[in-house]
Parts: sequence; structure tokens; C-alpha cells
Amino acid sequence: MPTPTAFFRGNLVPLAEANVNVMTHAFNYGTAVFEGIRGNWNADEQQLYLFKVAEHIRRIRQSAKIMRLGLNYSEQEMIDAVMQVAERSGYTEDVYVRPIVYKSSEVVGVRMHDLQDDFLVFITPFGAYLDLDKGARCMTSSWRRVDDTSIPARAKVTGLYVNNALAKTEAQLAGFDEAIMLNQDGHVSEGSGENIVMVRNGKLISPAPQDNILEGITLETAFEIATKELGLTIERRTIDRSELYIADEVFMTGTAAHLTPVVEVDRVPVGDGRPGPIAKQLQERYFAAITGRVPEYRHWLQAVYTREPVRA
Ligand code: PMP
Repeated sequence: MPTPTAFFRGNLVPLAEANVNVMTHAFNYGTAVFEGIRGNWNADEQQLYLFKVAEHIRRIRQSAKIMRLGLNYSEQEMIDAVMQVAERSGYTEDVYVRPIVYKSSEVVGVRMHDLQDDFLVFITPFGAYLDLDKGARCMTSSWRRVDDTSIPARAKVTGLYVNNALAKTEAQLAGFDEAIMLNQDGHVSEGSGENIVMVRNGKLISPAPQDNILEGITLETAFEIATKELGLTIERRTIDRSELYIADEVFMTGTAAHLTPVVEVDRVPVGDGRPGPIAKQLQERYFAAITGRVPEYRHWLQAVYTREPVRA
């Protein structure tokens, strides 16, 4: 049986005991930054592989720096906490590990300074987020993506995600799977929890970092596979909403969503309305890589179980 574990106030504790007080600053004002790290289960090897842990820890540290959140732990200590939580929890299925750096003071008052900071990690079983085979039906959200002049979009700030949550709920209540958010200037930014890529004339095109995207780790991974293995070229530039309607393919990338084809945008079929060949090839190679089946990409992964995992 798994034993869900958290790293909380400097110790490994049962997840059920990792609780904050209602006055916690981050709970009241969203003053925290977070990450999501995938653990992918390889049943043949009975191994759980965490994906790009160091990259995620680097990004949470950058988010913390932008947000003036203090870091009381070194990069290595944070990586160790993630690995220990995963190992101690003992899952034999796909998981999602969430590190958070947060304002832990139990005090009322809107600010970022003169407050205590803490770091925690928890883990939860996590299957598919979007339908990887059928692909996603998306709508352009009426909620615009938050701008760097309002809340730094390249930082994964917990409070910022109300923007994404409004978009996701609008899309799902309207019968779609996912939202595509436009910037304040009306150009394409990203999904509610994914970066977006379109394929036109054999080239992969995605919005640039200044388009208020989260600089995605899965996006970089997909681009590396695409250039190395499929010989494709990459372009980062402004994308119009109407370009998505005439793209050969569209897909989304993200820790939760992996690499999900987009088959419809605003009820307009993308291509012939089925997952495109480039998205499918990339998806296949990406899955082989993240489950430890491609030696060339083994350096992206951390094996959780050095011994056989504890099982019921
Ligand atoms: N954009 C947003 C808003 C996200 O929440 C995520 C998921 N972290 C992404 C993009 C994709 O980033 P990554 O591939 O690093 O998970």
C-alpha cells in the first residue's frame, strides 16, 4: 500500500498531517509559487521515473526570486525533498509531485516583505489530464491571459491561477475540453495549463516568452525531440487566433497534459479534425522517453526506487 508523504516544515510527515493554519498568508493572498513534476510508472521495470526534477526546481527558484519569496533550502535540498517524498510514498502508478514555496506567516496584511517563507512538497496519484488519443476540443476563452505588467506570467504564482481557473471552467461548462487564452493584445498565449504549438508547412510555431507564456519544460522537451529526431524547425513568434483555424496541426504541451493533440478550435476542425501525424509521432517518442525507454534521454529522469518499491 502507498504511504502518501509530504515534506512539511522541514520533515517528512504523513500527507494527512501536512496542514496549514487558516491565517496562513499564502492561503489568504495567493502568495506562493509552485511546480508540478510528473512521475511516470514503468510497469516492466517496476520503476517510477521523475521527469526533469532539476529543471523544475530551477524554475520554482526563479519564480520565488521574481516574487520576493525567500528560499531557505538549497537547490540540492529541494531536489532531495522531492525524491524523498516520492520514494517514501511508494506509489506504483503515475504521480504528480508538487513543490511549493509560500508565505507561511499567520498574519493579515497584503505585502511580500517582512514575512516568513517556507517550502513544502506533496504528491498525489495522477493519470491522464486530457484525452491523449482523441485529442482536445478547445475554445478561445473570453478571459485574457494575465500580463507581465499585472502578475509576472513566467512565474508559477498560485494566486495567478484564478485567471487560468476561470478560463478552464468557462471552456468546460461550454462543453469543451480546454481553453486557449489570448493576451491583452488579442494574440494567442497558451492553454489554461499548457503551452500551445501549431504546425504550419512542416514548421513548429509557438508564442514567444514575451507573449505571457509560462516557459514550459515540456515545450522545450518536445522541441528537442522534434529537431533532433524529426528534423523539424522551430519558430517562436506572435500567433493570431485565426491562424489556429488554418494550421495543419495544433497540439498542447504540459506536465499534466503531456503532449495532447488539439483537434478543434472554436468548433473549427484543425486539419481534418483528427490528431495530426507530427503530434502523434512526437507524443510517441515523448512517452518512450519519459518512461525510461530511450537511453539517449535517460538523463532527463530520476529513478525513484533504488530498491524494489514497497507493494501490498
Ligand atoms: N502554461 C501554464 C499556465 C501551465 O500551468 C503549465 C504547466 N506547468 C504550462 C504552461 C506547461 O509548462 P510545463 O511543460 O513546464 O509543465
